[in-house]
Amino acid sequence: MSKEAVLRAEMTELCRSLFERGYVHGTAGNVSARLGDVILMSPTRSSLGRLSPEALSLVTTDGAHIGGPPATKEAALHLGIYRERPETGAVVHLHSTFSTALSCLADTDPEDALPPITPYLLMRVGRVPLVPYHQPGSDALAEAVRQKARDHRAVLMANHGFVVAGRTFADAVANAEEFEENAKLLLLTRGQKINLLGAAHTAALHAMKEG
Ligand code: ZN
Repeated sequence: MSKEAVLRAEMTELCRSLFERGYVHGTAGNVSARLGDVILMSPTRSSLGRLSPEALSLVTTDGAHIGGPPATKEAALHLGIYRERPETGAVVHLHSTFSTALSCLADTDPEDALPPITPYLLMRVGRVPLVPYHQPGSDALAEAVRQKARDHRAVLMANHGFVVAGRTFADAVANAEEFEENAKLLLLTRGQKINLLGAAHTAALHAMKEG
């Protein structure tokens, strides 16, 4: 099997798993993975629960459509992250419940939207900024995320959801699961006294992440 066929099968299988475990619903969410100078993307109006390996969109890193059905309307959001973070092999964008709830709260800190309550968040995701609401699929949203992507692996989008990058498709999916899990923990502990990880622990984890 070619590298591309393996990647198509992996994307389809992991997206179905995300769907079956409740990380995505309906036609919400979209994913992409880079293979050399081309990018495989979930098609527009598709359900991540029912992708087919043969029916993924194929685009260039500039966004030109070169195969399969038309790509997700949030393609520009993905492309901006690949542009800013050359080490990126895949991007996952979800509207999962707890992360989206967090994105709707008026007092979410735009500089640190998902404070470190477990080390795994810092190891997989890092510090998370929040960008203001822009219409889904708009150039304004893609641009706001692109600017944050330079220094951040994940971005929370107000009243919408989040996007996270990874080295491989499996890595990006694991990062997305960690993001959602921490949003869930944060909301479950909301209003209670939380022991946040201290600055020394945070610095050590950032160093570990880079290594
Ligand atoms: Zn979206």
